[in-house]
Amino acid sequence: PEGYRTEGSLTLGDIFIAVKTTKRFHQSRMELLLDTWISRAREQTYVFTDEEDDALKRRMGDHVIFTSCSAEHSHLALSCKMAAEFDAFLASGRSWFCHLDDDNYLNPRALLKLLSSYSATWDIYLGKPSLNRPIWASEILPNNQTKSVHFWFATGGAGFCISRKLASKMVPWASGRNFLSTSELIRLPDDCTVGYIIECKVGGQLLPNPLFHSHLENLQLIPASLLTQQVTLSYGTFENKLNVIELSGPFSPQEDPSRFRSLHCHLYPDTSWCLQAVGW
Ligand code: UDP
Ligand code: MN
Repeated sequence: PEGYRTEGSLTLGDIFIAVKTTKRFHQSRMELLLDTWISRAREQTYVFTDEEDDALKRRMGDHVIFTSCSAEHSHLALSCKMAAEFDAFLASGRSWFCHLDDDNYLNPRALLKLLSSYSATWDIYLGKPSLNRPIWASEILPNNQTKSVHFWFATGGAGFCISRKLASKMVPWASGRNFLSTSELIRLPDDCTVGYIIECKVGGQLLPNPLFHSHLENLQLIPASLLTQQVTLSYGTFENKLNVIELSGPFSPQEDPSRFRSLHCHLYPDTSWCLQAVGW
């Protein structure tokens, strides 16, 4: 009987992972990701960028998508990429959509474990709340008046995931050109627009999850013993200081400023370049 049917266990193949990047980060950021976590999630990871690049294409084949979005940090250029990610996910038929920035480390095993506790047939929006309160925005109405709206959203820089069920409800606001016009209604960045569509249009809700991390938080505060359980991590500068996870090795901070290579060796010690690392 239906009630006894156990759902097939989730595999990485059920997840569509989209990484947003731009030409100027192909070398400095994408190479690091390709050497580390993407090597363990090759089949489901797609990179969205703005300029043709043979080197990237050689490494990723048809998993690099050259959008015609402009290479700017403007809201519209970034929303253009988010729309491309969303449409590629819809077309993929996979169960889960996860978005990442190109300065995120994703732990595929931790992601799988997290998503396994939900069903893609539910409305699920998981990530790290950008603020500790809902954001307020004014939405432009068709008559050019404005309406005050508020909603939670997951910060794009920590990565977030959306179930297929919820994504299919978002289509009228998020697919094709709709994402751009929706983002123009509130004139906020792409990750805010996602939260706005989910919470104000579809009636969904952000489920805050502490396993997603951006470089806007102090990454040193994550205990070393818990690093391998986190779903996403990041690196960058915060208040003019280097903000990275604290991990002693195997690589030195000079060899591995982001600490992603060292973390990768803790997660996947059988990696060839980990075995050769000093001290291992
Ligand atoms: N990005 C982009 N186009 C740009 C600048 C940035 O697509 O013109 C992407 C970048 O590759 C990254 C994300 O946007 O995935 C966030 O950029 P960044 O980390 O440089 O800035 P942040 O917002 O974290 O300070
Ligand atoms: Mn960043």
